[in-house]
Amino acid sequence: MKLFAIFGDPVAHSRSPLMHNSVFKHLNYKACYTRVHLTDGSKLKETFFSLSLSGANITVPHKEAAYEACDEVRGFAKKVGVVNTIVNENGKLIGYNTDADGFMFAIKEFGAIKNILVLGAGGTAKALCARFMEDGIKVSVLNRSQNKLAYFKELGCECFGWEDFELKKYDLVVNTTSAGLKDEELPCPSGLLENILDNSSFAADAIYGKVTPFLKLANSKSITSKDGADMLLAQGILANELMVKNELKTEDIKNYMSKSFEL
Ligand code: NDP
Repeated sequence: MKLFAIFGDPVAHSRSPLMHNSVFKHLNYKACYTRVHLTDGSKLKETFFSLSLSGANITVPHKEAAYEACDEVRGFAKKVGVVNTIVNENGKLIGYNTDADGFMFAIKEFGAIKNILVLGAGGTAKALCARFMEDGIKVSVLNRSQNKLAYFKELGCECFGWEDFELKKYDLVVNTTSAGLKDEELPCPSGLLENILDNSSFAADAIYGKVTPFLKLANSKSITSKDGADMLLAQGILANELMVKNELKTEDIKNYMSKSFEL
């Protein structure tokens, strides 16, 4: 029996166990997926091995610590320094990032997006912004702490703190902050956010399973918006493929993971 887990703080809200266990159960794959509440990201590697895990997903706020914990990082994760999926390959931790592909899948329904404002500058923002820039999208970043913006400036994004923000028109505004996850906070001061939403065509939140204060405000302005559920599903399918190492068919993973959202 293989054991997989999601590491995070908070982690109780995570739907990942439901999604991955749905795949394992229906396809008779001998594995189980659980939650691990990890407060200290530097303990990720020792915790992973102490639980004899075959693989893991990493959520807020440990994705950058996960990059550091890996013995080898592959693909897009290597470029962005942010890992959300770890696979145990013969005792070595191999890191991947499936968040950016998951998000690009989720926003397909909005059509062609040419410029985006990203709220937040954490691990998820790094992965998304790097992918947006690769796709030729113009990216602005707004974060509470200005000292987290260096990475984004280097990528070529326009970067702002709350004090020096210069408003433009956006096709899409994305909340990648964890504001709204376990509290009723907005990702930036309400006056600022109202102006942003008044100048945005679409809004998306990475947080899923609840209507966050960010989404409530977007909805009150009749802006087409969505939460992070489709992103979660798409990144989960990709992560599951990596964890089972081609032992299951992608169509089957997709089918049973999608079904877990109907529960
Ligand atoms: P990080 O901890 O790496 O980054 C958090 C960011 O949120 C930082 O920019 C931080 O700002 C900002 N922030 C936190 N609290 C507040 C607040 N009260 N007001 C304003 N800004 C705040 O987290 P991640 O990037 O890993 O995750 C971010 C969110 O995205 C989480 O809610 C997570 O659940 C969600 N997520 C969803 C996914 C999905 O599949 N749907 C996939 C990945 C993430 P500062 O720099 O000032 O501290």
